Amino acid sequence: MKILLGCIADDFTGATDLANTLVKAGMRTVQLLGVPRGTLDVPEADAVIVALKSRSNPAAEAVQMSLGALEWLRAAGARQFYFKYCSTFDSTDAGNIGPVADALLDALGADFTVFNPAFPTNKRTVYKGYLFVGDELLSESGMRHHPLTPMTDPSLVRVLQRQTTHKVGVMQYGTLVQGAPAVREAFDTLRAAGVRHVVLDSITDEHLFTLGEACADLQLITGGSGMAMGLPANFVRAGLMRSGQSMPLPHVTGPTAVLAGSCSTATQGQVAHMKRDHPTFELDPLAMAAGRDVAMEALTWAESRLSEKPILIYSTATPEQVAQVQQQLGREHAGTLVEHTLGRIAQGLVQRGVRRLVVAGGETSGAVVGALGVEGLTIGPEIDPGVPWTFGIGQPPLALALKSGNFGGPDFFTRAFRMQPRG
Ligand code: ADP
Repeated sequence: MKILLGCIADDFTGATDLANTLVKAGMRTVQLLGVPRGTLDVPEADAVIVALKSRSNPAAEAVQMSLGALEWLRAAGARQFYFKYCSTFDSTDAGNIGPVADALLDALGADFTVFNPAFPTNKRTVYKGYLFVGDELLSESGMRHHPLTPMTDPSLVRVLQRQTTHKVGVMQYGTLVQGAPAVREAFDTLRAAGVRHVVLDSITDEHLFTLGEACADLQLITGGSGMAMGLPANFVRAGLMRSGQSMPLPHVTGPTAVLAGSCSTATQGQVAHMKRDHPTFELDPLAMAAGRDVAMEALTWAESRLSEKPILIYSTATPEQVAQVQQQLGREHAGTLVEHTLGRIAQGLVQRGVRRLVVAGGETSGAVVGALGVEGLTIGPEIDPGVPWTFGIGQPPLALALKSGNFGGPDFFTRAFRMQPRG
């Protein structure tokens, strides 16, 4: 296989978001869940995304995982590389965005890359290096309460500078609006001044297309899914790919369920919306910690309800509830307990015939697809910006919608099922 764009994503829903962007821009795209073990028959594609679950791991571990993915993608012939993280730049002072980008640059023998989490369609914009979520600075948005990576500083330059020993700069709006040649010139100037990491301003999709064009020759690009919008056109312009490519997709029917492990503001709203007129089951992390088999309790509850409406099983809770649980169990232990339980529930649901599954939460999605043993996905129609239906490669046929916590409108869960996940 000879691929053009090799991508490494730090979580599973983020990978799906990126895949969705590339598919819409006409690239045949496959998402792999971890580095393939060799048994997976990877379909012919223009872009491959290796989805890792590395966002919240210790930095050294995230680096090793990312380098493993890079090695596989290089062996598959990738010409350019993309490191995908969240549009809210989810990370801590210890990493992992800076350390992973540094390690990838070193492995590629490169000395310059860009950072751009902007996703204007979902109201994530960067202005003068500050990240906005809607009308609020990142640090004033719900992200300040994130269970694993609370974001309390809106300056991406400062956030990134705490994660790397190399020089961080910013390429501002004023240059961006002058077009791709001006951006390239600014890159040269910054590079000459010893800057290795450049945060990019972006407010509209048009800016992202300009930046995509300006980054045609960079070996490594880093960003959210938006930053990838302008890249497929570079390959078409270079004569390496035809425009408007697509892949064949399966049609999946069967019982349906939602698993929500995200505690984001958007997911809280979506859970509340679905609770109004669907069967729901709430998971209690303290009961899990006390040794109760909460997964089995949920499955027993679900069993008789699967032939009816879509069901919802959730651990989603308010920041106050999460804080209380974390105080008793510790942040990591609470997260792992819930993720493990949701993974077991997903396994049990598929064993009981569920074929269409919506999962809310990045870490949660990673845990669920891991437990299901899904190794790769092809990408179907978009439900809401950044969230498509996807199809597991292999058996049994499974339609999966992996939703990043913050994404989707209030009726996302029910609308996903009203929309047939067909190719
Ligand atoms: P998001 O996409 O919103 O960031 P994630 O699934 O990535 O969602 O992260 C949510 C984290 O919070 C997971 O580790 C999950 O296990 C944990 N979690 C979920 N529910 C609870 C809860 N009730 N108490 C404490 N932690 C929770």
